[in-house]
Amino acid sequence: HAKRNGGNQYCFNTEEQNILLERNYQIDLELKEALGRNEFTVVYQPIVNLRNNKIVGVEALLRWHNNKLGFVGPNEFIPILEENGMIVPVGKWILATVCSQMKVWQEQGIMLQRVCVNVSPMQFKDKKFIYDLQEILNESLLDASYLEIEITEGTILDIETSSRTINKLKELGVNVSIDDFGTGYSSLSYLKRLPIDTLKIDKSFIDDLDRDGEIIANTIISMGKNLNFRVIAEGIESEDQLNYLKKQKCHEGQGYYFSKPIGDGQITELFSQLG
Ligand code: C2E
Ligand code: MG
Ligand code: MG
Ligand code: MG
Repeated sequence: HAKRNGGNQYCFNTEEQNILLERNYQIDLELKEALGRNEFTVVYQPIVNLRNNKIVGVEALLRWHNNKLGFVGPNEFIPILEENGMIVPVGKWILATVCSQMKVWQEQGIMLQRVCVNVSPMQFKDKKFIYDLQEILNESLLDASYLEIEITEGTILDIETSSRTINKLKELGVNVSIDDFGTGYSSLSYLKRLPIDTLKIDKSFIDDLDRDGEIIANTIISMGKNLNFRVIAEGIESEDQLNYLKKQKCHEGQGYYFSKPIGDGQITELFSQLG
């Protein structure tokens, strides 16, 4: 694997490192063809209003099935899409797929307030990001106010460029949320300065609720509400967690307790059952 070590470095990899390098190399190769071979799909996880248990939105999550590798999870392949640059075309495909799906739901009378889409740092920093998004919104005929872009704290570290892009998103009428909130290095001052709509409390702090660790979740909920953000708890798995978050008046939640991410057809079914 000398090619991956680069240059004249003499270094011995452990067996484990070699296996990992080989797998990442395979994933990288296959990802370059994945879009053309139609290997990506999008699943949707319901987001629930914790006051009345109604579904208010969905988060779109990318799935990849490859003939050689089988199902590979986004935590494994998204970093490689970022590395090889494919995240830009794949990201455009996701946005176009999600916007036209949302329009289809609207035509079926399924009234979701929001569809949330994760956008990775490289995609967000791409010079054509706003232009491409505008084109996708125009072509899908989706009203921009139904779209929410999720970025992480890492993406906004470069405050100058990120605030410019966030402001342009707001001009388009698109909502912006900070995903995995609490795990990165964000300063309170820019939180107040940026026109952000939503904070999503990272799942690790929801897990902590089971071990007397409510301090971070409580702090994010009360700070978020004081700064007029919508606050969403990610990764709710139990009734105890849910009841606690309701007591703290966290606005919304998502997690396996309500539903795993499901296909677009299952979202349609879910709504026809609910009437
Ligand atoms: P994320 O945006 O924070 O998404 C939440 C992740 O938590 C999803 O994993 C979801 O399936 C999972 N999850 C939701 N509720 C529960 C729960 O109750 N328990 C557990 N154990 N997990 C839960 P997923 O789909 O594997 O995605 C992982 C990450 O990959 C995402 O984290 C996001 O950072 C990234 N990702 C996924 N889809 C996309 C995409 O379309 N574009 C980009 N740029 N990144 C994506
Ligand atoms: Mg997310
Ligand atoms: Mg998250
Ligand atoms: Mg996450």
